[in-house]
Amino acid sequence: MKTIAIDIKSMTIPELEALLTGMGQPRFRAKQLFSWMHDKRVLSFDEMKNLPASLREQLKRDCTLTAFTTERRLCSQTDGTIKYLYRLGDGEYVESVLMRYEHGISLCISTQVGCRMGCSFCASTKAGFVRHLTPSEILEQVYAAGRDTGERISSIVLMGIGEPLDNFDNVLRFLELVAAPEGLNLSHRHISLSTCGLVNRIYELADMDLQITLSISLHATNDETRDAIMPVNHKWKIGELLKACRYYTDKTHRRISYEYSLISGVNDSPQQAVELAALLKGSLCHVNLIPVNYVEEAGYEKSSRQRIYQFQKVLCDRGVNATVRRTLGADIDAACGQLRRQALRSS
Ligand code: SAH
Repeated sequence: MKTIAIDIKSMTIPELEALLTGMGQPRFRAKQLFSWMHDKRVLSFDEMKNLPASLREQLKRDCTLTAFTTERRLCSQTDGTIKYLYRLGDGEYVESVLMRYEHGISLCISTQVGCRMGCSFCASTKAGFVRHLTPSEILEQVYAAGRDTGERISSIVLMGIGEPLDNFDNVLRFLELVAAPEGLNLSHRHISLSTCGLVNRIYELADMDLQITLSISLHATNDETRDAIMPVNHKWKIGELLKACRYYTDKTHRRISYEYSLISGVNDSPQQAVELAALLKGSLCHVNLIPVNYVEEAGYEKSSRQRIYQFQKVLCDRGVNATVRRTLGADIDAACGQLRRQALRSS
């Protein structure tokens, strides 16, 4: 019988200590191994020179060192955005997008293969849900982009394919590993997690008092509209979601970011902007207005520029902080889920 290989890149130092001492190794080997995987970020056991050859052989036999094949790499000619399509060990695909801002490089990563949230405007959910990503698969997207560009990634957004709070334990483990001082050491203050609003998990996150930024995909100002475009709203209404968000800011004192994709004729009227301002007034937040990206099956149209700026003005006039998100990587179809869909169609 073939035993399942151990996913060691998903393990914490104490877990590695238990594993290695169980193999008859001294404890300090755990930190050495962790450092090869998460600080030097090598891709083979053979490179781990300060580990005994016999241990390297044993690790090769029993463990996997999660790595991807880069299936496609598209670089925008206009703004340097890079879109990666990776093939995972089991043949599934996942995407990341690297974006360049004045304040540094931001990487948008995926947390699941597909998604089961079913938002009507979203490409990632159209082909359904396949599986969760492991902590090492979430992490390896960060390491792979760093290796590819040789540049420092200064912030991470969990805003690619998948619903991070639907893969809660693996995402928490990822957050722990990526911030480890013995590894990449990226502060939680530079990480944003975007959710369609799994209210029970928002309370749990708040109680953990992490320093990450929470982004809420709101996209509607009343339950009727949100029910129609985001199935999660059948379970938790806008009122319950915003109550959880208030709890989150009270606990963490972190400003929440609300994502609002403007869809022509659906959620972009001046009246809806007034409603949004009323919902958010007085809360510590920021609204990101995003012209909706075209997705074939959805058939939604972007709002006009004039309508978007009018929407923003209504919010700002009412004291709600709002910006219009700059479109990056327009020439490479950088919106989430697009490359994976193309790959699935052509295979
Ligand atoms: N599941 C998480 C994170 C992934 S989606 C979430 O829902 O937040 C990342 C962001 O892109 C979300 O705000 C999502 O609502 C938005 N989005 C999805 N499809 C879009 C589209 N076609 N145009 C604009 N934004 C979209």
